[in-house]
Amino acid sequence: MKFAVIADIHANLEALQVVLEDTKQQGCTHYVCLGDVVGYNANPRECLEIIRAMALPCVKGNHDEYCSMEDKLDGFNPHAAEAVNWTRAQLTADDKQWLRDLKYVRMVQTFTIVHATLDGPPRWGYVFDKLAAAASFPYQNTQVCFFGHTHVPVAFVRDGTVIRGGTYSKFRMEAGKKYFVNVGAVGQPRDSNPKAAYVVFDPREGTIELRRLEYDIAAAQKKILAAGLPPRLAERLAYGR
Ligand code: ZN
Repeated sequence: MKFAVIADIHANLEALQVVLEDTKQQGCTHYVCLGDVVGYNANPRECLEIIRAMALPCVKGNHDEYCSMEDKLDGFNPHAAEAVNWTRAQLTADDKQWLRDLKYVRMVQTFTIVHATLDGPPRWGYVFDKLAAAASFPYQNTQVCFFGHTHVPVAFVRDGTVIRGGTYSKFRMEAGKKYFVNVGAVGQPRDSNPKAAYVVFDPREGTIELRRLEYDIAAAQKKILAAGLPPRLAERLAYGR
């Protein structure tokens, strides 16, 4: 059994297709999604259709929440607000209901999934450093919890009272330690690496492997511009920012 752990697809169909193809080549048999299926890029309905058809455990991201409600977007970054309004207009009532029904946190077999942090999941805090990871660990009842939201792949490890954090490519979990692992973003990476990211998790081996994949960025960019979304959202895909 191997899990593909995917997060922050953000309506990027080109990236999602390449990732799903790779999961097959990697022998993934199970899937989980950490939320933000929609928002920013140009194919929210197509991406939602794929994810819904997979009937996989999925938790709610902040964009899933914003795009499925009708609330005003006060205090939003203008580009994000524009993308949310555009996405709201694309989604069907049924899509929005599906997004609204997503839970903030889920246990899947022996691990936990959350979009942002276990420390008050609906507040959408960003875990970039050990301090923020330290606030999440007390709520983590499994050896590993996967999260997204920052679009920056990083692994935090708690060993007794000591917490370390850093980038990773592949590692094996050790008994007695807890892991809080960001799997990076499928559809809008922000670690200065434009390649799509996801994780292959083998629960029996206890291994966690970060995959990075090239995809047709130019095609995704063209669609963003053609849709009338902010050009900045197309540009950032090329830089991974
Ligand atoms: Zn996101």
